[in-house]
Amino acid sequence: MQSISYDRATDVRQAIDLAQQPGAKFIGGGTNLLDLYKSGIEKPIHLVDINRLPLADITELPDGGLRIGAMATNTAVATHPLVRERYRMLSEAILNGATTQLRNMATTGGNLLQRTRCYYFTDPTFARCNKRNPGSGCDAIDGFNRIHAILGASDQCIATHPSDMAVALAALDAIVHLQGPNGERQVPMQDFHRLPEDHPEIDTVIQPGELITAVALPAPTFSQHSHYLKVRDRASYAFALVSVAAAIDLDGDTVRDVRIVLGGVAHKPWRAQEAEDALRGQTLSDEALARAGAAAVAGAKDYGHNGFKIELAQRAVIRALQTAGGLA
Ligand code: SF4
Repeated sequence: MQSISYDRATDVRQAIDLAQQPGAKFIGGGTNLLDLYKSGIEKPIHLVDINRLPLADITELPDGGLRIGAMATNTAVATHPLVRERYRMLSEAILNGATTQLRNMATTGGNLLQRTRCYYFTDPTFARCNKRNPGSGCDAIDGFNRIHAILGASDQCIATHPSDMAVALAALDAIVHLQGPNGERQVPMQDFHRLPEDHPEIDTVIQPGELITAVALPAPTFSQHSHYLKVRDRASYAFALVSVAAAIDLDGDTVRDVRIVLGGVAHKPWRAQEAEDALRGQTLSDEALARAGAAAVAGAKDYGHNGFKIELAQRAVIRALQTAGGLA
């Protein structure tokens, strides 16, 4: 058995320095990393515990936005008064994910870095998984792929990203703050996760040794008309078959701006820009929403067992927009 060394960091600089060791992994809530370690998928040699870092605060920004520290738990974010008042969709998305116990442990940064729940990835007895073992193939493409991607997949990987929080953050134009050995940088949430292309083993644009320090939300534009809709196999503790973060900025009954981001359908939160374009400037109506729903699944692909997701996603987009816009 491979032994693991352990350090507890007390400041960000120390954590980043410790993480430069080969095989190092940050550990926060550990809700996904420890599962994957126990099943032999993650093989850390060195754990850098970041639970003592001063990154758990949720603070209002001078422009009316919000800075969420990377170590703020999912529960702390979902129940924060300013999140509930100004970014209700984010609270809805988080509360639709996992269990109370997991939300109490899971952190904001860890939520974004959780890995796919593709059965063939999480069970190492399956031989072919390009994400777990690059170059080995993909057992899902010709296998049982009911939960897999319909948009943005490649012939290397058709996995989906499991986070609900990330879907809402993408719709809210959040910015991910990173710090690493080369300094600090910021990445728009919509660019943080990758499509699989030829390297499905790489989930995000984060570089080795970089740490998520915070997620910043801009001043709210969509606080009046937003909704997070999650469709899943059972009412709790299940990942999304399809989810939709829908947010509308209305001028009377005209759509001034809109965000539509889908979860459970792609390797990353999937922004449905064609659907947004179909709706922007239009009068909010069932006919306009139907056009947006159709546009949201343009180019979607059925891999054998997951074809039902195409109509499900179309209907979910329409329903989420109806609810956000007050038509439902
Ligand atoms: Fe692995 Fe991706 Fe294929 Fe699943 S879909 S088996 S994660 S390569």
